[in-house]
Amino acid sequence: MTDHNQNQNDTTHFGYQQVNRDEKVKRVADVFHSVAGKYDLMNDLMSGGVHRLWKRITIEQSGVRRGHKVLDIAGGTGDLTLRFSRIVGPEGKVVLADINDSMLKVGRDKLLDNGVTGNVEFVQANAERLPFPDNTFDVITIAFGLRNVTDKDAALQSMARVLKPGGKLLVLEFSKTENPLLTKAYDFYSFNILPKIGSVVAGDEESYRYLAESIRMHPDQETLKSMMETAGLSQCRYQNLTGGIVALHTGIKP
Ligand code: SAM
Repeated sequence: MTDHNQNQNDTTHFGYQQVNRDEKVKRVADVFHSVAGKYDLMNDLMSGGVHRLWKRITIEQSGVRRGHKVLDIAGGTGDLTLRFSRIVGPEGKVVLADINDSMLKVGRDKLLDNGVTGNVEFVQANAERLPFPDNTFDVITIAFGLRNVTDKDAALQSMARVLKPGGKLLVLEFSKTENPLLTKAYDFYSFNILPKIGSVVAGDEESYRYLAESIRMHPDQETLKSMMETAGLSQCRYQNLTGGIVALHTGIKP
């Protein structure tokens, strides 16, 4: 099987740097501990609020219904969880899971502030080794999370394992733009403006430089689609959003 994360020396990429795998886990953790408090504000500023539209489309495409069990892995500050919890109602359940306790804490506080209590569970978990039984969830989402995972193939397999047969995985992630003009403008924005916003608003230029670099290192649309197929999902397809700046991949567990 192709490993999309690892080379022969057991190193992987952290943005444009080659680091060993444990180092990547530690550095990704440092990024999200650092940005957690300003994460939601930065998302609105960086995307001009458009991330809300990408997330709304993800909810629409999920087919989530009342009574469903949903896993929002790498769910961070809980934007998707908040919306899912309202749809699944008291008979359903949403698990907000993330590897990073700082992000989970911000998410938990936000959900409580929004009056969400009964049907949401908070779990600290690594997407590569999900601590749930086989065939548990009707829907799983991973939004802007897969890019940060060290072993993406293991994570996709783990998500496929805990999906119920007929259940749907949705991967919302930055991807590859097609239009050369858009690519040029987007590159300029990512490498010149974004880190400056990070510096001024979150006091952390480095984490937002990592964001720009990690997006460029992430598998493109077709590669991710075939990784999902390799993980055992069927009917894998994707939809480009905002010219391919973001892509929404979906797959069904047979
Ligand atoms: N899903 C949220 C959203 O769309 O706003 C948060 C996305 S945030 C950019 C990426 C999240 O992935 C962080 O909260 C980070 O802690 C989490 N993450 C990174 N590696 C992970 C892993 N191996 N397992 C679970 N979560 C992980």
